[in-house]
Amino acid sequence: MLDALPPRVAGISDPLDRYFAAARGNADVTPLEMTKWFDTNYHYLVPEISADTQFTLRPDKVLSEIAQAHGAGITARPVVIGPITFLALAKAVDDAPAPITRIDDLIPHYIDLLDRLVDAGVEWVQFDEPALVSDVADGLPELAHSVYSRLSGVSRRPAILVATYFGDAGPALGALARTGIEGVAVDLIEGRVESVAAAPELSSKLVVAGVVDGRNVWRTDLDGALGTLGTLLGSVGDLAVSTSCSTLHVPYSLAPETALRGWLAFASDKFVEVATLSRAVRNGRESEAQSFDASRAALATRETDPRLRDTAVRTRLAAITDADVTRGDASARSSAQAARLGLPPLPTTTIGSYPQTTTIRKARAALRSKAIDRAEYERRMRDEISSVIALQEKIGLDVLVHGEPERNDMVQYFAEQLDGFFATTNGWVQSYGTRCVRPPILFGDVSRPDQMTVDWITYAQSLTDKPLKGMLTGPVTILAWSFVRNDQPLADSANQIALAIRDETVDLEKAGVGIIQVDEPALRELLPLRDADKQAYLDWAVRAFRLSTSGVSDAIQVHTHLCYSEFGEVIGAIAALDADVTSIEAARSSMEVLEDLNAVGFANGVGPGVYDIHSPRVPDANEIQKSLSAALEAVDVQRLWVNPDCGLKTRGTDEVVESLTNMVTAAKAVRASLS
Ligand code: GLN
Ligand code: ZN
Repeated sequence: MLDALPPRVAGISDPLDRYFAAARGNADVTPLEMTKWFDTNYHYLVPEISADTQFTLRPDKVLSEIAQAHGAGITARPVVIGPITFLALAKAVDDAPAPITRIDDLIPHYIDLLDRLVDAGVEWVQFDEPALVSDVADGLPELAHSVYSRLSGVSRRPAILVATYFGDAGPALGALARTGIEGVAVDLIEGRVESVAAAPELSSKLVVAGVVDGRNVWRTDLDGALGTLGTLLGSVGDLAVSTSCSTLHVPYSLAPETALRGWLAFASDKFVEVATLSRAVRNGRESEAQSFDASRAALATRETDPRLRDTAVRTRLAAITDADVTRGDASARSSAQAARLGLPPLPTTTIGSYPQTTTIRKARAALRSKAIDRAEYERRMRDEISSVIALQEKIGLDVLVHGEPERNDMVQYFAEQLDGFFATTNGWVQSYGTRCVRPPILFGDVSRPDQMTVDWITYAQSLTDKPLKGMLTGPVTILAWSFVRNDQPLADSANQIALAIRDETVDLEKAGVGIIQVDEPALRELLPLRDADKQAYLDWAVRAFRLSTSGVSDAIQVHTHLCYSEFGEVIGAIAALDADVTSIEAARSSMEVLEDLNAVGFANGVGPGVYDIHSPRVPDANEIQKSLSAALEAVDVQRLWVNPDCGLKTRGTDEVVESLTNMVTAAKAVRASLS
C-alpha cells in the first residue's frame, strides 16, 4: 500500500510477480524476511526501509476490497495497518536510521488514503496499532498523540478507530484520547480495564471493548465480561462489545468437534458471545438468562474436572531442584561426545523433517478413514524412513535424521500422545500464506503414558552406521503452538510438558541414541511485549528447556533449533539453554547471529542456517561455501555445523536433493581448504 518494496524487486514489472518475489523470492532475488506477528504464531514479511525508500500510496487493494463489499451490500470498515506499527515493525537496511524516524514521510500518504476512502463511501476506518501495547520503540504514546492529532486534524476523512490489541495500551490510550479520533479498541483480556478509566478523555469517544478472548479457545465467563462492560459504561462515550483482537488466531467453528465442546468457543461462537453481551448491556442480564446459565455451568464443570489436577505430576514438579536443570561441564560433555560420535569438522546435518510427500499424506488419510490399519500405516512410514536414510547416505550427510514422516505437525504429534492435551478435528488457523496449523488444546495436567518416538528413531538408527539424531519438540514450543489453559501460570504448564519430554530423552538414551534434538523455534514468540515482563518469561522458559534436556548423560549430544524470529532480545536465553549444538536460522540475516551469540559468551556448537528453506530457490555450492567461510570468521572450526535454516517438510524432493548436495559439496570444499 505504501510501495515500500526493496529495490531488488522494484524492477519486476508485473505487479503480481513483484509482490510474490518480495514474499517468496525467485531465482534471482531473496525474499523479505518473515517473522512472527507480535507474540502469535502468525507471520508477516518485514518491510525493509533504507534511506532511499520513497513512499507512494497504492490504495488499489483496499479500495477494490471495499468496492467488493459494497457490491455485496455490506457496510465495510476497512482495516489498515497504522503508520506507527508499520514503521515500528519494519527494519532499517543499508545503515539507514530506525524506520520510525520516517514517520513524517508517511503521514501525507495516510492523509491521501483518508481522502480516497471518503470517495469510496467509507464511514469508519480502523487503523491497527498493536505496537502501542509493546515497548518496541521509545516514546510511543507521544508519537501516537502526534500522529493521530495530524490524521484526525484533516477535514475530509472517515471516522477513525485506532485498534490496540495483544496487551495493555497503558499511557497510549490517554494519548490517543487527547486527539480528534473518534474511537479506540482495547484488549481487555490481556489489557487492564483500569487503563481505560485512567484516560478521562475517553468519555467523549467510542470505546470498542475486547472482552471476549480473540486468541484463545475457552468459552467466555459472561458474568465476568458483563461486569467489565458495566464498569466502562460511566467512563466512555459510546461502548461497543468485541473480541480482544482479530479472530484470525482461532478456528472458525466448533461444529466438527466432538470433545470438550461445552468448554470451548471458536470464532463463530465468540461472535455469538459478543452479540449476547451487547444485548445484555442494553436489556439487562435477565434478557439473556439462558446464555448466562450455560456459561456458568460450563465454567463449573471445568473447575471440578479431575483431568485438570494430576497429583503425581504436581508432586514430581514440586520436588524439582537446580540439579535437575543442570548438565555436566560443557567442555567435558564435548569431549565425551566427540569420542562417541567421531564426526569430521564442519559436520553436515538437517533440521529434522524431509518432504511430506503425497505418499505420506495419502497414508495418513487412509489411516484416518480406516482404509488401512495401524500396522499397515507403520509399515508405510518405515518405508519412508528407509528411503530418507538412503537418500541422506547418498547425499553424504554426516548426522542423519529419520525425516519425521509420521508427524503431521511437530507439536500436534506430541500433543496427541500426551495426557492433558486434546487434538481438534478441524481447528485450523493460518500461520503464513497458505500454511495452516491445527493447534492442540492444553486443558489438563500433562503426563506421558507411553514412549512417543523411540521406535521410529531406533528403527532409523538400525538402518545406518552414521550417527542418527532423534527429534523432539521442546516444552516452550509445544506450549506456544497450543491453545493453553487459562487457569494456571504458563510456567507451570511448561514444566509439566518438560517432564514428559525429559522422560522421552532418557528413554532415547537407553535405546542407544547418541544425539537428541529438542526444537525450540518458538522461544522468541512467547516473549512478552512489555520490557518489564521479559526477564521473568526468559527465566522460566530456559528452565523448562533445561528440565527437559538435563536427564541424559554427558555423552549424549543435545541439539536445539530456533528459526524465523528476531533473536536479539533472546540471545542470552539461547546461550543459557546450554544445548551442545544450536542450529539457528541465519540465511537471511547473514551470520549476524553468530556475532550476537559470541557477544553473550556462547561457546558451544552452532549451525547457522546456510540457506533459506522457505524459498523455492536452490542455493549453489559457491554461495554456501562463502557463507561458511564468513561463519568461520566468527566461530572456530570445532564449533561450526552445516545445516539448512529449518526443516524440509514443505519442500519438494528434487529441490531438497539439489540443495543438500550443494551444501555437502560446500562443506567438503571448506574442510579441504582447512587441511
Ligand atoms: N524438526 C522440525 C522440522 O524439521 C523443526 C521445525 C521448525 O523449526 N519449525 O520440521
Ligand atoms: Zn525451524
